[in-house]
Amino acid sequence: MTLHQNLIAGEWVGSEGVANINPSDTNDVVGEYARASAEDANSAVAAAKAAFPEWSRSGILERHAILKKAADEILARKEELGRLLSREEGKTLAEGIGETVRAGQIFEFFAGEALRLVGEVLPSVRPNIGVEITREPVGVVGIITPWNFPIAIPAWKIAPALCYGNTVVFKPAELVPGCAWAIVDILHRAGLPKGVLNLVMGKGSVVGHFMLDSPDVQAITFTGSIGTGKRVAAASIEYNRKFQLEMGGKNPFVVLDDADLNVAVEAAVNCAFFSTGQRCTTSSRIIVTEGIHDRFVAAVGERLKAIVVDNALKAGTHIGPVVDESQLKQDTDYIEIGKSEGAKLAFGGDILKRDTPGFYLQPALFTEATNQMRISREEIFGPVASVIRVKDYDEALATANDTPFGLSSGIATTSLKHATHFKRHAEAGMVMVNLPTAGVDFHVPFGGRKGSSYGPREQGKFAAEFYTTVKTAYTLA
Ligand code: NAD
Repeated sequence: MTLHQNLIAGEWVGSEGVANINPSDTNDVVGEYARASAEDANSAVAAAKAAFPEWSRSGILERHAILKKAADEILARKEELGRLLSREEGKTLAEGIGETVRAGQIFEFFAGEALRLVGEVLPSVRPNIGVEITREPVGVVGIITPWNFPIAIPAWKIAPALCYGNTVVFKPAELVPGCAWAIVDILHRAGLPKGVLNLVMGKGSVVGHFMLDSPDVQAITFTGSIGTGKRVAAASIEYNRKFQLEMGGKNPFVVLDDADLNVAVEAAVNCAFFSTGQRCTTSSRIIVTEGIHDRFVAAVGERLKAIVVDNALKAGTHIGPVVDESQLKQDTDYIEIGKSEGAKLAFGGDILKRDTPGFYLQPALFTEATNQMRISREEIFGPVASVIRVKDYDEALATANDTPFGLSSGIATTSLKHATHFKRHAEAGMVMVNLPTAGVDFHVPFGGRKGSSYGPREQGKFAAEFYTTVKTAYTLA
């Protein structure tokens, strides 16, 4: 089997590989991927540092052309890359292709942004002096990504980093090296100079840890769990380094008495269970007012009966497997915790057997849950959701906001008054009205508040806040 190597200083390197296993079929090895050492990470940082002066001064047309070429190739290969994604992560093929298209669109967007770099020119408050405000690249950016969006998250970090003239050391999650390798290969062939983008696939505790402790990494953008995020923060403060964290969520989805039942059910099922509930924007707290509660729960139960959980690559599958055995254990442990806390398991929760050996879990829906239970406070990161019954809109809003997290928040209602009030008062970075809490555009800011996120927003024009540093220059006329 071909070994997919790491890219360091423009060379493919590495001899020892680790098998990438398909969670829909554990007999299927997706490929062999090199495992970087701390020395490799050291070389990658040195290469990115050496490449920075030239790349930071490169012409915007060169950056535009490389990013556009990468976008075109990703979009042209969407079926093949989407399949690779589904095979290594377990999302359905439709979800895998959709995520791949999004990655292509992100590169396309930032290819355009490279041609739209702007500054400001304004008069000083002192006579005969002019002021210019410009944005400059930060330097070597460390990119550390999670497994649940194997191509979109690397894309929304790598594309702006390169667009604004930074060099990159990229460490993808251990479980999904395939898509990471593929986009680095595409960018390398698109013409990136040596050392501008380095790929170090490997363990968080080795490669990631090295990056956190390297004074030559001037910025780290991290998406992943809260525990690792805290390490990134602590290490970055030590080095006075810029950092950005996107972490967990416990996103609420409110259903009011006046909701359109079909809209509410479709949105709730989508955001609680699609992508196997493994999205940071998944809603696992469904907060329902008492007038619609019983009808809503019955309709969600009916809808779930029609959901097919099976091999991600099979036609007709709605929900693929959980990503691996330890995540499956975490999900089933939380199902037991929910039962022991007194919530009622109204639907699902069983481990399923399918034609191919994989980590299949029937979506689990709890009712009679309270917002104080652990299943309502801690991120499960699987297809496990709870319905919390409340009296009215005011209690629904208070319950929605009663969480340490603040990534996404949704409401199903036909009331303009409540929709407007909710948009203003939901304590979250993103608010959805009559839409699932998951499912966002690539050209507008993404991110949260409270315990979910730290630092500037990602994506769209707002990405410039993180990937550039501002300079103010004064000139005597
Ligand atoms: P994780 O924290 O275990 O791993 C994330 C990355 O950090 C991986 O690349 C891992 O190798 C690396 N890492 C692990 N230990 C490290 C260390 N000591 N030093 C440096 N790097 C280290 O998270 P995960 O399990 O891959 O991802 C799931 C989490 O990601 C969930 O909590 C989910 O909510 C979150 N997530 C958040 C967003 C968002 O935008 N808010 C998006 C997707 C996923």
